[in-house]
Amino acid sequence: MPSAANDPRGLPSVDRLLSAEPVASLLLSTPRSVVVEAVRGSLRLARSEVLAGGTLPSTDALAAVVVSLVAEAEAPTLRRVINATGVIVHTNLGRAPLSDDALALVTQAAGGYSNLELDLETGERGSRHSHLASLLRGVTGAEDGIAVNNNAGAVLLCLSALASGREVVVSRGQAVEIGGGFRIPDVLRQSGCTLVEVGTTNRTYLSDYEAAITPRTALLLHVHPSNFRVSGFTHSVSGPELAALGRRLQVMVLDDVGSGALLDTSAFGLAREPMVQESVAAGCDLVCFSGDKLLGGPQAGVIVGKREAMESVRRHPLARALRIDKASLAGLVATLRHYSRGEALARVPVWRMISADLPSLRARAEGWAEQARGWGICASTVETASAVGGGSLPGETLPTVALTIGFGAERAVGQDAPSIDGLAARLRAGRTPVVGRIERGLLLLDPRTVLPSEDAELLAMLRLAAVG
Ligand SMILES: *Cc1c(COP(=O)(O)O)cnc(C)c1O
Repeated sequence: MPSAANDPRGLPSVDRLLSAEPVASLLLSTPRSVVVEAVRGSLRLARSEVLAGGTLPSTDALAAVVVSLVAEAEAPTLRRVINATGVIVHTNLGRAPLSDDALALVTQAAGGYSNLELDLETGERGSRHSHLASLLRGVTGAEDGIAVNNNAGAVLLCLSALASGREVVVSRGQAVEIGGGFRIPDVLRQSGCTLVEVGTTNRTYLSDYEAAITPRTALLLHVHPSNFRVSGFTHSVSGPELAALGRRLQVMVLDDVGSGALLDTSAFGLAREPMVQESVAAGCDLVCFSGDKLLGGPQAGVIVGKREAMESVRRHPLARALRIDKASLAGLVATLRHYSRGEALARVPVWRMISADLPSLRARAEGWAEQARGWGICASTVETASAVGGGSLPGETLPTVALTIGFGAERAVGQDAPSIDGLAARLRAGRTPVVGRIERGLLLLDPRTVLPSEDAELLAMLRLAAVG
């Protein structure tokens, strides 16, 4: 027979817990169904704890659980997190953070009305793309440009507009999947094009493309192998090289450069990511890229190119179906202005992170470690590597110094059963979730991807997760 202290029948009824404070007050601001669900949840948890040998909780304790369950149910599931992974363009964490200027223009455009599609001079209807065209001409050298929802959409639109019902020549090594189910052969099929693969998986030459061109050929497609690297016995043709062939044989060339680098990554000890301006200068008819990878702006797909090809793209029905929304357009305009003013390195967060120097990263990591040790946490620093991420520059890293937390002989934290996985989970569960990475049994927090304005908050969250 259970004693009264561990008999679940001693728990209050749903109605009694509903009328206890502060649960009763919650009903004033929260839908009743949400509170009732939380009351049931609190009682369910208590029942299983009591059955497992725990003692009956007080009504106050049950009510406190109700309050936290309601808070959890009412909070948006989409939340800000602190990215301490060291992966700059982290797809799972929303890719590129926006610059202050971009944020301000997004807020302005989204929070009120704007001349999105109004020509203020004539009072006539305008085009949303007009806000981008001259900026894109300036920063890429192209004759014209527009933006759509994302780069996957941009590729689909370009192929549909220029090559539907005809043949598209692609290197076998580039008929690939670019993450998240974006497969070049599927996109070609969806666009109504016939895929003509040339070369082999590891080697394709210009002569392979040339031999495949027939009167049915609409387009030569180059896809930057963003997220993988073929090494060893390889040969491939670059977008600019393909542009020269296209010009000679009067066949259009589309170059999907992927990341949209407008600055040279090799200036930072990384491999050289193909640059948009070079494909444009080489004469590609269309060049497309993402807005939220190395460009460092909002999610978008940018298409730039020659006037005639761009005209077909603009007129295609998919251009309307895939059009960019006003908030992303505003973010893209402000981001591109950083490039046109020559201040991208200093102002675009992605480029600030790429160009952050080792001494300043070391100083931040050591400052964090010192504070953490002051709270009794077993913290140190280690020289390790950050990554660009987002499917850019696979295998390429940037040297960094990270804060490390381990459980040494002196025991790292005050928890009963200290474990690195447990600490990582508590950091993710905090008020502002912090995401780090685990390497060789240590939790690493890399300052490169933590915005300087987030330093104090990161430390507060670490303290709560590790010491309580
Ligand atoms: C990332 C990438 C895409 C897809 O771009 P999204 O903006 O994510 O839609 C397409 N092609 C290449 C080469 C890429 O790197």
